[in-house]
Amino acid sequence: MLQEKVAIVTGSGRGIGAATARLLVGQGYAVCINYRSNRKAAESLRDELEQRGGRVIAVEADVSYENQVVELFNRVDHDLGRVSALVNNAGILLPQMRLDQMDAVRINHLFSSNVTGYFLCCREAVKRMSSLYGGAGGAIVNVSSVASRTGSPGEYIDYAATKGAIDSLTRGLSVEVANEGVRVNAVRPGFIDTQMHADGGEPNRIERLRKAIPMQRGGRVEEIAEAIVWLLSDAASYTTGSFIDLAGGK
Ligand code: NAP
Repeated sequence: MLQEKVAIVTGSGRGIGAATARLLVGQGYAVCINYRSNRKAAESLRDELEQRGGRVIAVEADVSYENQVVELFNRVDHDLGRVSALVNNAGILLPQMRLDQMDAVRINHLFSSNVTGYFLCCREAVKRMSSLYGGAGGAIVNVSSVASRTGSPGEYIDYAATKGAIDSLTRGLSVEVANEGVRVNAVRPGFIDTQMHADGGEPNRIERLRKAIPMQRGGRVEEIAEAIVWLLSDAASYTTGSFIDLAGGK
């Protein structure tokens, strides 16, 4: 019998993560929807995907806490089986400000969510996927951002720097586990229509920046999910340490 593919998508109650979970179920993956606080959104997505015939669980865990990440992966082992695909997607954005206004509380909060969380999830995934641990292989996709290239001056350099760290993590880990059956890649979205921009204090940010995007429009969550799912798939079997920029030409 063919082994069912098992995916964890962090922060997938809404936005890019939710679109990715939808697409993965359509491709036959059993999927763990992870959420931090919005149980209602996560459970409603789980119900929708179960109605479409998916094997889906919704698990609360704040990925910036080590014990919660360990419990998340243990729960997936128990309920769905050994994970073969991880999408590190959970991320936060804080209100726009110049660097000379930032304090350590804000910077550390961003780094623990957007960087430590990705590292911890990668660690747990590698322990289950790598041939070094008796695993059957797997694929990891980190959701970075074009902000790692632009630096987001005048908006949120701290957020951009967390994504720079994710690019380094992706490159380093991809080489570390390349010969152990694990592929590690990243997508770098640009200006995607989600609620994240409201969290940054500017719900209409994409409209303001639209003219500066070569394609003159923001992206849809489905356009990011398609690239993530391709990177996870066997069609990308020779792709590791790679980055797909999805930013309308930016
Ligand atoms: P979103 O709509 O704000 O969704 C983010 C999700 O992450 C939320 O559902 C939230 O869960 C979850 N989350 C946040 N912190 C978490 C934590 N510590 N543990 C577990 N879950 C957590 O954002 P999005 O736009 O889809 O962004 C998804 C990813 O794409 C992020 O990494 C973001 O940096 C990246 N990205 C987005 C854009 C864009 O333009 N939207 C561009 C480039 C990169 P709860 O709601 O349950 O709290």
